[in-house]
Amino acid sequence: MESNEKVRIDLHIHSTASDGTLSPEEILAVASSVGLGAISITDHDTLEGARLVLSCTIPDSLGFLTGVEISSAFPDGFNYGGSLHILGYGVNVDDMRLNAVLGKLQASRRDRNPLMIRRLNRLGIDITIEDVLHRFGDSQIGRPHIARILVEKGVVASIDQAFDRYIGKGKPAYADKYRITCPQAIDVIRGAGGLPVMAHPGLLESNQGPEFERFLALLVPMGLKGIEVFYPKHTKDQTEYYLSLAVQHNLLVTGGTDFHGAVTPGIEMGKGNGNLIIPYSLYQAIIEYLANVS
Ligand code: AMP
Ligand code: ZN
Ligand code: FE
Ligand code: FE
Repeated sequence: MESNEKVRIDLHIHSTASDGTLSPEEILAVASSVGLGAISITDHDTLEGARLVLSCTIPDSLGFLTGVEISSAFPDGFNYGGSLHILGYGVNVDDMRLNAVLGKLQASRRDRNPLMIRRLNRLGIDITIEDVLHRFGDSQIGRPHIARILVEKGVVASIDQAFDRYIGKGKPAYADKYRITCPQAIDVIRGAGGLPVMAHPGLLESNQGPEFERFLALLVPMGLKGIEVFYPKHTKDQTEYYLSLAVQHNLLVTGGTDFHGAVTPGIEMGKGNGNLIIPYSLYQAIIEYLANVS
């Protein structure tokens, strides 16, 4: 495909392999039907979504990057709120070290879910781990799945309310999970031939100014190679700010909507909340980078 700024891409999409509501095949179909030029499936701590796409027939008109979004711990001295998510693009889905690390993260999620269920029970809410596994057992289970069960049971009116009242960070049924350190996340992605990218910097508690810049400057020598500049919740000013930091640190610019399907109703694939345009040229730059590291 020719470089064409009119072609949109979406490099941050969740499937049913984690907490999205569309299967990888459905994501391929939607991406083609809305005319996207390239996508990546970036499920939380699992490559199953990306792996499934590789076994499908991908239309010639659609570029596809394997992807994963790894929840990682903040480095010492930078204990911000918010989540430090590292995206890995173009990784080899059969890389043994990456798969071993993801296996450990998946096990920690499995241990954490019954803990949150027990906390909900103590608050008088009738929910069992079987309710969750029966409904979503094929997925990598996260808080949005528990939230959906709470909505279905009529305990809360919406997913947001489930997070606000019970399972958001700091709320009574929240439980933390094991995370790998961010240098480990970066290293394991690079070891698998991929591009490590800081996801949605604007969602960090400290996301602009000298403190954030010190944080970013710490991650660059760890091997960080990209920053997710285009993101639905980034303001115009933030987008420009992260673009300038990308230039300063020689980082690749990426962008995606964090599409989750029905659990995030305001977010459309490739468009975010309507006016996000992520240009195809970013995808081309990533492909070029990946060709040079492999
Ligand atoms: P977990 O990885 O299980 O801790 O769940 C975190 C995920 O929950 C995030 O990556 C989001 O996809 C989702 N999430 C967090 N807050 C909300 C919210 N208020 N509404 C819907 N989804 C949320
Ligand atoms: Zn998610
Ligand atoms: Fe994220
Ligand atoms: Fe995400």
